[in-house]
Amino acid sequence: MIETTVEPKYRAFSLHNFRSIPQMELLTEEELFDIEVVGNVLPFKVNNYVIDELINWEDYQDDPIFRLTFPHRDMLRTAHFKQMADTLRHTDKRKDIKQVANEIRLQLNPHPAGQMQMNVPEIDGIKLTGVQHKYRETVLFFPSSGQTCHSYCTFCFRWPQFTGMDELKFAMKETELLVRYLEKRQEVTDLLFTGGDPMIMRHKVFSQYIEPFLANENKTNIQTIRIGTKSLSYWPYKFVTDPDADDFLRLFERIVKRGINLAFMAHFSHPVELETEVVQEAIRRLRSAGVQIRTQSPVLRHINDSAEVWADMWRKQVNLNCIPYYMFVERDTGAKHYFDLPLERAWNIFRDAYQQVSGVCRTVRGPSMSCTPGKVQILGVTEVAGKKVFALRFIQGRNPDWVAKPFFAEYDPRASWMKDLKPAFGEKFFFEEELARLYMKKAAKPEHETLKMEISEN
Ligand SMILES: *Cc1c(COP(=O)(O)O)cnc(C)c1O
Ligand code: SF4
Repeated sequence: MIETTVEPKYRAFSLHNFRSIPQMELLTEEELFDIEVVGNVLPFKVNNYVIDELINWEDYQDDPIFRLTFPHRDMLRTAHFKQMADTLRHTDKRKDIKQVANEIRLQLNPHPAGQMQMNVPEIDGIKLTGVQHKYRETVLFFPSSGQTCHSYCTFCFRWPQFTGMDELKFAMKETELLVRYLEKRQEVTDLLFTGGDPMIMRHKVFSQYIEPFLANENKTNIQTIRIGTKSLSYWPYKFVTDPDADDFLRLFERIVKRGINLAFMAHFSHPVELETEVVQEAIRRLRSAGVQIRTQSPVLRHINDSAEVWADMWRKQVNLNCIPYYMFVERDTGAKHYFDLPLERAWNIFRDAYQQVSGVCRTVRGPSMSCTPGKVQILGVTEVAGKKVFALRFIQGRNPDWVAKPFFAEYDPRASWMKDLKPAFGEKFFFEEELARLYMKKAAKPEHETLKMEISEN
């Protein structure tokens, strides 16, 4: 148990006050300016736990958590960096800075097209804009009060949701519509709360979203509630010393007692996030409330691009009774050029790490790309009929029939995302025609006229 007499108080830092972080004295004026330039385009928010417990300031420039949370000049392309730097040198008008920021953001593929247009369901003619239903069994829900996080990851593809561009924001006020939709869709067994980070919510707000599923009159077929969260990495006090920590644990217990499987899809990027006393205590408390913790993260250059880091992380997770779940490939938005790795390298990291751990850690699957047709796993580089190829398979498919069928792409040492891949045999991948048909069907509405067929995006 952690003995604390004072509750650690959450303090957030972003552009307007980060210079008051004591550790900023270690940085040069140029580095501070770089943070301002990039932080005006990409999300930037960090808190006292991340600063004081996770970052090793003696080596901050190469520190994985510093890289994960603090903007770096190379995260913007040179021209974009210069454009914003010049703007900041010439004006301090919020409006002008914002306009330049938005111009740059729109060039960073902020909203993979398919995500906006293909997955938003309707009920009785009403668009459920805070809901995505892509895979038959699982519905993603973006509660409007969960669209922020305790800190921001600089690589995050969710960043358009944080940056005040309302037209890009997924949000939905009522659970009511969601429940109505789920009642009609008995094939949906899993409800996945996501964001942002739903665990940013106070218990009072979060329980509003959950109560309908605990009520006797609930007629949905929800058997698993998942919560996608990085709170265990960024603010584990949430479940230990925050004023409503115990209320959360009691709510979680009620969900589990109701016979619903409750799973945290916990985002851990590096083993250091598992090493503090308070995160270990938070995991113990969640586990004793009956919460399952499954773990996932993208593999990222500068942060966790080594097999040793992943093997160490999976082993530590299992030792804390967490279940390794996914290794993702960073998707093609935002600062991808800074973080991305060739698919072959991602696979080698996965394979080397997987070989180092025992079977209990091998519940993990990856590296996986979440793109328009589904979640595509890179099984490896191999040879078929004398030709060097990537072997791939769907872990999830827009059509469930696609899942677990191996297929092949031409070997390309520079490929880093689905859009870089070409079929190894024949003209098209086996799923392409059907995907195009699904796409046309959804895009039949006039406002989607300009929609282009893309297989690289969500
Ligand atoms: C990953 C994902 C899910 C969940 O998939 P599982 O393989 O069941 O974890 C659901 N919906 C979307 C859109 C996803 O990307
Ligand atoms: S915690 Fe999750 S949603 Fe929030 S910035 Fe990081 S990756 Fe994005």
